[in-house]
Amino acid sequence: MDVQIIDKVFRPFISAEQISEKVQELAVRINADYAGKRPLVIGILNGSFIFAADLFRGLTVDAEISFIKLASYKGTSSTGNVVTAIGMEENLKDRHILIVEDIIDTGKTLSSFLPEIHARQPASVKIATFLSKPEALQHEVHADYCAFEIENKFVVGYGLDYDGLGRNLPALYILK
Ligand code: 5GP
Ligand code: MG
Repeated sequence: MDVQIIDKVFRPFISAEQISEKVQELAVRINADYAGKRPLVIGILNGSFIFAADLFRGLTVDAEISFIKLASYKGTSSTGNVVTAIGMEENLKDRHILIVEDIIDTGKTLSSFLPEIHARQPASVKIATFLSKPEALQHEVHADYCAFEIENKFVVGYGLDYDGLGRNLPALYILK
């Protein structure tokens, strides 16, 4: 059934069952890749909180989790917009970091934020994203784990919002 959020109508796109199956598949791959490594999962708020929770529950390896918010502010004209992390208190040095995002759209957010992670000298950095829109990608960002590649249209649900609403929808909906 379609859902209306404020002024827009969305139609069902990916069911809760399909999501759950795919997220579990990613968890299985992560468990194999991180055996014995005690990764630090870093979820990017707000959008990733449901995906991060489901993915994390699927982990059977020893793992830690923490969440950060990204704030973007205007840098100088040469640096453009700068993205900085709020709430990153963990020491990342020599840790295996798994960044968890809701969606990679243009890739701008992650590409501007990743240098900040690398500067802290982690042992490794990988990215898990719930969604990616390959047609929208403009920056060089590579997701190591991606649940679904989708067309270049606006989606809501499973943590993703339209103007603050729709995050609680258990399935994914796409703009009609
Ligand atoms: P990027 O920096 O990769 O262009 O954009 C990433 C951010 O844009 C995401 O974290 C998300 O907040 C927002 N975004 C991009 N596409 C969508 C979409 O289809 N739906 C929603 N709800 N947010 C999106
Ligand atoms: Mg986001």
